[in-house]
Amino acid sequence: MTATHKLINQLIQLQELVVANLQKKASMPKARLEELEKSIAALGSDLPQQVRSHFNRLLTKHPEAIVPVANSICAGCGMGLTKSLINSVHKAEQMHRCPNCARFLYYPEQLVERERVSRSYGEVRKTGIGRFTSPELMMVSLKGSTPEEVLAEMCGHMAEEGFVEDGDLLLDLALQREAIVSTAVDNGIAFPHVRGVEGGGLSMVLGIHKKGIKFGGPGRTLTRVFFFMVIPTATSAFYLKLLSGLSRIFREKEPREALITAKTDEDLWKALIKATKKMIK
Ligand SMILES: [Zn+2]
Repeated sequence: MTATHKLINQLIQLQELVVANLQKKASMPKARLEELEKSIAALGSDLPQQVRSHFNRLLTKHPEAIVPVANSICAGCGMGLTKSLINSVHKAEQMHRCPNCARFLYYPEQLVERERVSRSYGEVRKTGIGRFTSPELMMVSLKGSTPEEVLAEMCGHMAEEGFVEDGDLLLDLALQREAIVSTAVDNGIAFPHVRGVEGGGLSMVLGIHKKGIKFGGPGRTLTRVFFFMVIPTATSAFYLKLLSGLSRIFREKEPREALITAKTDEDLWKALIKATKKMIK
């Protein structure tokens, strides 16, 4: 591993912590995040001065300062990159930045591929929450009893429905994300996710676990409602808005109970549409 590889890994890890911090702030406005902020400061202080100041400057403009090269484009801004730049990024002898958006670039070892064609309702004009999810992605009764089992059900379902190609890879990445800091918030809700996915839009499975499981929520909270999202890099900023909108809506007991008590996937879909209609256009 070159020194640059090491630096890239450090930046990716720092990036994950920064985004996790933003996620927590968006979903739990009163959360105490000292631990997370301490880790961010510690990791940041290890970086070479120049890299650190550039990284911090980028973060004031975008939620992500280091992005993968995907299909020969910068996953941050969508700019096409030259072959020679891509080769240099791959070799990682030094740090490279996108000539358009100035984000740091890295060459990913694994990338979740989206299936190119959405199988079902391609022509229907979608509005509101329906832009990110669909009746096929409602899972009214998750069965698993551990975080891993529940995530496996949702990742598998996303692959079956043709939203990603490799459900196992998706599960690995979702578990890696949970290992950084749990995506469970209060009120029995969690927002597990995988970021940096190639192509397509943001998509979301809504899974309900009637009894609830321990998912790392505060105290002894059991988690019952899972908003599992697959997030292409280009939609990161939007994702944080969606996250804060959903957590604001479902912090209220009534709409949350409507999800938990839904009997069929179709009821769950209706309850989701009803609750989000006003807030998500
Ligand atoms: Zn760019």
